[in-house]
Amino acid sequence: MNGALVITGGSRGIGAACARLGAQAGWPVCLGYRADRQSADALVRDIEQAGGQALAVMGDVAHEDDVTQLFDRAAQAFGAIGGLVNNAGILAPAARLVDMDLARWNATIATNLTGAFLCAREAVRRMTAGGAIVNVSSMAAVLGAPDEFIDYAASKGGIDALTVGLAKEVAAQGIRVNGVRPGLIDTAIHASSGDPQRASRLAPNIPMRRTGTPEEVARTILWLLSDAASYCTGIMVNVSGGR
Ligand code: NDP
Repeated sequence: MNGALVITGGSRGIGAACARLGAQAGWPVCLGYRADRQSADALVRDIEQAGGQALAVMGDVAHEDDVTQLFDRAAQAFGAIGGLVNNAGILAPAARLVDMDLARWNATIATNLTGAFLCAREAVRRMTAGGAIVNVSSMAAVLGAPDEFIDYAASKGGIDALTVGLAKEVAAQGIRVNGVRPGLIDTAIHASSGDPQRASRLAPNIPMRRTGTPEEVARTILWLLSDAASYCTGIMVNVSGGR
């Protein structure tokens, strides 16, 4: 591992699974989170007790200064930045597009897309010896999420384009940029959208007839970050049980 792995939204769910697996793989990990300090600190303790190196930094990925601080803290603690998982994301309650207000639309785009832009920009500026970025998209980017979350789907469609474009822009600098599209994964994001049972309720419609786990997504992300994926850039991997 060459330098630290920065994981946004690393305090729980898919990001926390990436932090655990990343630390096991030998990355010093820097977890960003927005508000839940208790979960972030508990995860850092767990990783350290298991022999890994970790740091948690609070901040909002949609705020430029917070993003600079996240990367500054990671670099101060662990040296160079070698990897980024652009994972922080939010999901508002289900609504049809005609009923969405502008504040909701802007908040979704700000966290899910602008945040990923700011973090990718900061990572590329600092990855002077090369590196790897994995952007967390969603199957919603392809399916469109009608009647529920078109704002969210649009933000994730932006992530797909960001991934393909940036991959081509920085390939010659030794930086690989790839993405994953999780399907229905069993995490707290569904509760924050007002429907804690959403993932399990929709499970019978998934070809594999079950939801995915955060670890199943994290394993794919860690593979994309690793040298095992050394000739992959600009790809999106669906981790969705066939959805
Ligand atoms: P969770 O809701 O479990 O975790 C979200 C994480 O993002 C938390 O660590 C949260 O911090 C952090 N976060 C939220 N907003 C911000 C912000 N503005 N700035 C910094 N950190 C922030 O989500 P999941 O693990 O389910 O999702 C992770 C990613 O995977 C997201 O991008 C999501 O869109 C994507 N995804 C998830 C799917 C699923 O079914 N779960 C399906 C497809 C994609 P805090 O706890 O402090 O608020």
